[in-house]
Amino acid sequence: MRYGIIADIHGNLEALQKVLLQVEGKVDQIICLGDIVGYGPDPNECCEILKKRKILSVAGNHEKGTLGELELAWFNKNAAEAIGWTQKELRPENLQFIKGLPMTLDFPEFQIVHGSLLNPVKEYLTKLEEALPTFELMTKPLLFVGHTHRPLELKDKGKKILNPGSIGQPRDGDPRAAYLIFDAQKGDAEWLRVDYNIEATQEKMRQAGLPVFLVERLRRGV
Ligand code: ZN
Repeated sequence: MRYGIIADIHGNLEALQKVLLQVEGKVDQIICLGDIVGYGPDPNECCEILKKRKILSVAGNHEKGTLGELELAWFNKNAAEAIGWTQKELRPENLQFIKGLPMTLDFPEFQIVHGSLLNPVKEYLTKLEEALPTFELMTKPLLFVGHTHRPLELKDKGKKILNPGSIGQPRDGDPRAAYLIFDAQKGDAEWLRVDYNIEATQEKMRQAGLPVFLVERLRRGV
């Protein structure tokens, strides 16, 4: 079984479509680690693609913020502004869709969560010390997380936590969309990057009146 692991799409349709095109035929199942919406200009279209392709996903902090289940005061100014925009933009059926997303999901070979098992939509795992409580809570040897928008691999006592990086708003200095292919038979993870039409996404964000800072960071991948 080969899995395509995607995370932090953030309403970036151009990036999502490009990754799906590249991953087509290479994996048996695609799985999403949350933050389908927020920041980007196409939250509805991204939800529609996940529903249509039966891509299983957990909820991220931007889903919880959009639903009003996480206070906007918790987010920084630009993120809160984009969430406010997303709340007005998201159609009722897609609000229903993100409302139905679980906090964690278990697969035969691994578990998935947006942030961490200790604090599923809030905590950022960036280094081993932060991840130790989550390693303790893991019931499988492998966990996929998103949320930081940076590719990452952490290991502790035979267990692994992997982050594929972000589809729609990479923050590791590389503006290309990031994802991962996991081969469950071999236990191999391969991190991949793909170019997409960043200018098209940026233009839609300007038209939508989304914060300039969010528009500009896409070009720099930060
Ligand atoms: Zn995110």
